[in-house]
Amino acid sequence: MANTKAYAATTPDSGLAPYAIDRRELRTDDVAIEIDYCGVCHSDLHTVENDWGGSKYPVIPGHEIVGRVTAVGPDVKGYKEGDLVGVGCMVDSCRTCSACESGLEQYCDEGSTMTYGSLDRHDGTVTHGGYSERIVVGERFVVRVPEKLDPAAAAPILCAGITTYSPLKYFNVGKGHKVGVLGMGGLGHMGVKFAKALGAEVTIFTRSEAKVAEAKKQGADHVIISTDEAQMKAAANSFDFLLDTIPVAHDLNPYLKCLKHDGTHILVGLLTPVEPALQAGLLVTKRRVIAGSLIGGMPETQEVLDFCAEHDITCDIEMLDIRNINEAYERMKKGDVKYRFVIDMKTLKQS
Ligand code: NDP
Repeated sequence: MANTKAYAATTPDSGLAPYAIDRRELRTDDVAIEIDYCGVCHSDLHTVENDWGGSKYPVIPGHEIVGRVTAVGPDVKGYKEGDLVGVGCMVDSCRTCSACESGLEQYCDEGSTMTYGSLDRHDGTVTHGGYSERIVVGERFVVRVPEKLDPAAAAPILCAGITTYSPLKYFNVGKGHKVGVLGMGGLGHMGVKFAKALGAEVTIFTRSEAKVAEAKKQGADHVIISTDEAQMKAAANSFDFLLDTIPVAHDLNPYLKCLKHDGTHILVGLLTPVEPALQAGLLVTKRRVIAGSLIGGMPETQEVLDFCAEHDITCDIEMLDIRNINEAYERMKKGDVKYRFVIDMKTLKQS
């Protein structure tokens, strides 16, 4: 009998509705977690609606999970009942390739096992995410959430946080750098906080006049309305890095023009083909670089949580009753979220 309440999409256009699943018995290195909060990422929406192809229904999304440990397997060393922990986008990987050995499990040669919609490496079942009462995850893919952080506002650090922190660290972003963050949503607003905390001068590129004051409140030094040609032109050749969180195909060329020579445009939001075509001349003539980055490995995911505790950084969230999840997705499509929905899992127990 199914032992866990959840919310699932059963087809690309079904929306999400109550569903019951079985969570596995503990393996020797497993940690069982009662979920208190789960953030709502735009990737959840992409997967529910099969934007990237290959979604496995029923889809039970959710990879920004915070909760308390309820039980551990006999080989678990780092966690005990009652600990406040998190689970992000991955729940397993091959653990032996050079990427895994370097703590970069997200780049596992065999492909990491994602928190939802992947096949479990041991029993071949489809993984189910955090829109559920509880989850069972191998110790290596569990992180400790500092008790100092508000657990609800910390949940999105497990994806929106690490995804923006990791490339900023990789490219050594810091004092003296000018960084532009493209799109002020879940990822974008965290990108601003991290780039500021690392000492950079930060500009938000947004389509929305209404977000200008908000962007300043988030700590952005400047705001550019990306649909205003004059503002984009005035920004030519001025940025060292652009962190691009825009979730759909968009014209990269006007943004590339904003990079200095040797500047880097880091894609984190786009996983589908670049359209319209890239003007290669914009790269060649200024040695500009286009890069991509995927979440972050397990050691760095722990690092970002500790960094957030040290620098008093959490996400700006709207608490969500899971019964309103479909309306929340509609608002996310319109860019109308400040800046992350987080599901209060008590509402699932009541549903
Ligand atoms: P949100 O919906 O919270 O924010 C995206 C922002 O992008 C919006 O707020 C909006 O900002 C801007 N935007 C939206 N649509 C358009 C458009 N048509 N043209 C220009 N700008 C647009 O999404 P998330 O921050 O949760 O996720 C962003 C993307 O990152 C998603 O595609 C997600 O799948 C991906 N992702 C990637 C990860 C990785 O590891 N690389 C990990 C997690 C997520 P504004 O209103 O300010 O213009």
